[in-house]
Amino acid sequence: MIEEVINSFDYVVQLKEKGMITWEEIFPSFYSVAKNNFKTIKENGLLEDVKKILTYIKPLKTLPEKRKERRLEGLRDSLKILKERYLIDEVSVEPEKKLAPLTDIKYIKKVGTKRALVLNRLGIFSLKDFFYYPPRDYEDRRKVVKIFNAKEDEKVVIIGNVVKSEEAKINKGLTIYNFSVEDDTGVIIVTFFNQDYVKSFLKRGVKSAFYGKIEYSYGMKQMKSPDFQVIENEEDFKREILPVYPLTSGIFQTTMRKIAKEVIKQTYFLEEFLPEEFVQGFNLLDLKKRIKGIHFPLSIYHKERAWYSLKYEEAILFELAMIYLKLKMKEMKKGATKEIKGELSKNFLNTLNFELTQAQKRSYEEIKKDLISPYPMNRLLQGDVGSGKTVVSELAIIDVCEAGYQAAVMNPTSVLSKQQFKRLSNDLEPLGLKVALLTGDTKESDKILIKEKLRVGEIDVVVGTHAIIQQDVEFKKLGLVVIDEQHRFGVNQRLELIKKGNHPDILVMTATPIPRTLAMTFYGDLDVSLIDEVPKGRRPIKTILVAESNRKSLYEFVKEELDQGNQVFFVYPLIEESEALELKNAMSMYEELSEVFKEYKVGLLHGRLSPSEKNEVMDKFVQREYDILVSTSVVEVGIDIPDATVMVIEHPDRFGLSQLHQLRGRVGRSEKQSYCFLVLDDDANNEIKSKMNSFSKTLDGFEVAEIDLKWRGPGKFFGVEQHGVPEFKFLDLAEDVNIIESSRKMVERFLSSIQSFDRYPNLKHELQTRYGDSIHLINVL
Ligand code: ADP
Ligand code: MG
Repeated sequence: MIEEVINSFDYVVQLKEKGMITWEEIFPSFYSVAKNNFKTIKENGLLEDVKKILTYIKPLKTLPEKRKERRLEGLRDSLKILKERYLIDEVSVEPEKKLAPLTDIKYIKKVGTKRALVLNRLGIFSLKDFFYYPPRDYEDRRKVVKIFNAKEDEKVVIIGNVVKSEEAKINKGLTIYNFSVEDDTGVIIVTFFNQDYVKSFLKRGVKSAFYGKIEYSYGMKQMKSPDFQVIENEEDFKREILPVYPLTSGIFQTTMRKIAKEVIKQTYFLEEFLPEEFVQGFNLLDLKKRIKGIHFPLSIYHKERAWYSLKYEEAILFELAMIYLKLKMKEMKKGATKEIKGELSKNFLNTLNFELTQAQKRSYEEIKKDLISPYPMNRLLQGDVGSGKTVVSELAIIDVCEAGYQAAVMNPTSVLSKQQFKRLSNDLEPLGLKVALLTGDTKESDKILIKEKLRVGEIDVVVGTHAIIQQDVEFKKLGLVVIDEQHRFGVNQRLELIKKGNHPDILVMTATPIPRTLAMTFYGDLDVSLIDEVPKGRRPIKTILVAESNRKSLYEFVKEELDQGNQVFFVYPLIEESEALELKNAMSMYEELSEVFKEYKVGLLHGRLSPSEKNEVMDKFVQREYDILVSTSVVEVGIDIPDATVMVIEHPDRFGLSQLHQLRGRVGRSEKQSYCFLVLDDDANNEIKSKMNSFSKTLDGFEVAEIDLKWRGPGKFFGVEQHGVPEFKFLDLAEDVNIIESSRKMVERFLSSIQSFDRYPNLKHELQTRYGDSIHLINVL
């Protein structure tokens, strides 16, 4: 195989680079690779190239040091050229008919209306969808081996004649078909289960190629249920790499491949849309080659280059869309600039019994700059749990109100809204600002009143759930929207918001540290301020794994903490399949704990309570009327209880690590030592144990987030199905940090050098078709 030959040449160069061979040994090594593969080299037309290389490196050992290095460089380049020339290809035959990329898939040969419906279920509606439908694996059928040389566990092609066939009915449901297949080196048993149609193909004397894994059974080589192709002679077998597609019921792999072959013919007409600087800069395969390369690569090298190139394509296009959007949003003037006096915020800072951390000060300054600028702020305030984001947002709110504007603060739940409301009224009313609460369960008559006051400007700050920016809420002069802990608030929702007010400033806050790749994608249109410092004097929380069988000692420990006047959380996971079961668990735990901790007061919080009941329970816990709070995961975000020092999490494996980190962040909010216990089943498997172990070893939310992303993937990372999280086909957000980062950098440079996309019609078209709908790009392109 030519790829193996070139790889062997490559290997020699690598050996030299690693210092494992000397200059003298390069030429003889190359020579022997060439000699051993003479036939392959000649048949593939490489003879001249290889001869040139040999002549080039022959004098190596006699050259001065500097020139040796230069020749080695030249040798690397020649090998690269060989790879480009012989290991990568594109469709070179012009199809009879040219189809537009958006042609309905049903018009492709071998598809038709019925199969099109099946393909639709795979997300394939057009020719182009198929171009970008990535295989999940590949079968390398270039490697035909003799039976004698076939090694156990290797997936290979065997070509031989059927010499014997047997059929054994094991029981009513199982019939086994065994075929003995022979070549000039040995015999192999080919086995099929229940597929009686194979009999009619694999008759005695027939020649066939089999692709499958080599196994051993009773001392014989065996292949189970291989793919096979009956052939006249060995040359008829096509040695190629085939795609293995993700399938759905109603379509076979072989059919899919046949359709793919038809589809790929059309890549002949494709035109590159990525600007030259990207293709050159990242050394990408041209569009025709990269699409061909993910379906029918000429070599493994081709396949890898194609995947790499498509990852870049995806990252570049997405970043182009996001950063262009960001630039455009910056161009929209928000009217007047806000005049920040800073008197009120100074007063507020004086009432605090602590000083801001450096990171808080820096973030506040960044926000202030945005408030003053005539362009709307779109900023993400990132910081770990307990890093003190709320104070920073309060400062911004105060400044904006002082400048004569209103502010809105949005929370994901009404429980959190209520806590926020309390805190804000507590902090802001003394400064003379009016704060109101508006959630789904606000009384209708109150709602009307609040809305009226917002309209005329009698309320300065409104706190609430999503409801506050929806429908008919009108502001007199909305200047700032703070979005707290709300990951679902994607770019589209933010755009909605902008359409509403007079381009308010937007501050998104998140308690879940976001891995870099997600920050660059989901929040790619935002500027980022980072609070990377926790307030001084906090003691690191101790995270401890407890086996179920040690529950008793856990209770003893909890008791000691309670005796010292501290408060304790017990948290149950939300069990999605069964809300009833979740409730039962929390309830029975509540009963058990009330029994175990008789002298203490236990509260219960769960999703079935009405919002006002929930609020009451939370309140009582805050007011210390409860010592212990048993809760389902509703307690997760934002809640702040300084005296709580113990967090016990049951079935921690049911949570994502980022959620666990959130929960853990509910304690450790004072100078006391806090603890987080993870109660694991005695028979918890190793994977869970190692995951929990790595979690217990770090308090760094960003590190936890990265681990979480690797385990769960981006879709589940935020805990909910996302609207607006882009679905990438090739990029892996857990792995491809470098690709996303380098694309982003080059995109930023590119966009700063062009006025519009007019000189790039292909690119513009591509951006429109890909992102026109999903991020309203159409409006700004
Ligand atoms: P989060 O970033 O998780 O939203 P909060 O803003 O709720 O954190 O702050 C957590 C706790 O830390 C609050 O009780 C807050 O008053 C306190 N806090 C905030 N900043 C500081 C600081 N610089 N020094 C000491 N305590 C602070
Ligand atoms: Mg918070």
